[in-house]
Amino acid sequence: LVERMRPFTSTIFTEISRLAVETGAINLGQGFPDTDGPASLLADAARNITDAGRNQYPPGPGMIELREAVAAHRKRFYDLDVDPADVLVTVGATEAIASTLLGLCTAGDEVVTFEPYYDSYAASVALSGATLRTVRLHPGSFRMRSSHDAPDFAFDPDELRAAFSSRTKVVLVNTPHNPTGAVFSREQLTLIGELAAEFDAVVVTDEVYEHMTFDGTPHVPMATLPGMAERTLTISSAGKTFSVTGWKVGWVHGPPELVGAARTVKQFLTFHGGAPLQPAVANALALDDAFYAGVISDLSRKRDLLSDGLRAAGFDVFATHGTYFVVVDARPLGFDDGFDLAYRLPELCGVAAVPVSVFAGTPEGAEAMRPLVRFAFCKRDEVLTEAVERLSGLR
Ligand code: PMP
Ligand code: GLN
Repeated sequence: LVERMRPFTSTIFTEISRLAVETGAINLGQGFPDTDGPASLLADAARNITDAGRNQYPPGPGMIELREAVAAHRKRFYDLDVDPADVLVTVGATEAIASTLLGLCTAGDEVVTFEPYYDSYAASVALSGATLRTVRLHPGSFRMRSSHDAPDFAFDPDELRAAFSSRTKVVLVNTPHNPTGAVFSREQLTLIGELAAEFDAVVVTDEVYEHMTFDGTPHVPMATLPGMAERTLTISSAGKTFSVTGWKVGWVHGPPELVGAARTVKQFLTFHGGAPLQPAVANALALDDAFYAGVISDLSRKRDLLSDGLRAAGFDVFATHGTYFVVVDARPLGFDDGFDLAYRLPELCGVAAVPVSVFAGTPEGAEAMRPLVRFAFCKRDEVLTEAVERLSGLR
């Protein structure tokens, strides 16, 4: 294995999911729903395979139905004008992230992102040969704190500025944010955009949780900010919105020359993926407002169920404004190492969760996140209720 990939031989999701299976624990570690997406979506995909015969290579950049549907979705929800020709369909958001970074970055370049981060970011940056520069999301940071009752996560504007330099090629922004549940505000995104413009960097946004924000918190796509569409590549996918994480249908859109960079790489990574799934996802993107509202109301109920339960179990619980994750501080229960706790939790009480420190990009970040653990709440209510019951025995 090449040197630069040695830190990435396993992932925390693989490890904890294996442990959950071995111990029979309720798996609130890896984020995947325990019910499948809308029936119409599943039926469409089945029909495409068995009746419509859509099982051969389609055009590399993606099927036109899906590229048009992504453009229509961006118009409908964000009033963004996207040309379907500038939409590239990928094998999940993961391939969009990798293709984008590989197409834009090389050794000597720097990629700014926020820590903790989704684990594929560091691996994809390493593949490209570029260097990752992280900006900490501080728990309960006070400068840009929201008005919610529990503390949440935010960056310090001075630390953000300090991460930029003439070597900055890309700033990678994930909102709503995994694992913290933070949703970047218009003001925060404006600041990031201004710095990107000042240092002539491309903004890559990972918006896979775009339809999962709570309490009326708006999701603001970076591309909607004045002047930003021309330097932003926007990534999303079907996995979260439609509860089909195993389908791996994602996409990226932006200005032609930037999408072209990602397309060049993507065509030699996979060329194409998921032919029968793509037209089904296209139809799902056009589902009515009631569907999208239902995603939010279901998940906010689940967030409350799990957050309240974790609080009752004795954890300090951070506010989740988006995604389907909630972060807790385990110190009030006497655990100051979340990594250790995550590996013991299945045995202690039959529930699995992931440590937050593994998503840090620096030793200092890992130290700051040491007592934190992430739980996923994209599970049936009765499963969450049972998990809460089990967790209550931790005291
Ligand atoms: N980005 C983030 C922030 C995620 O949480 C995930 C899913 N775990 C992905 C990207 C990957 O999305 P996909 O499954 O579509 O590749
Ligand atoms: N996105 C999921 C999470 O954060 C896991 C994805 C994966 O298994 N790589 O839990």
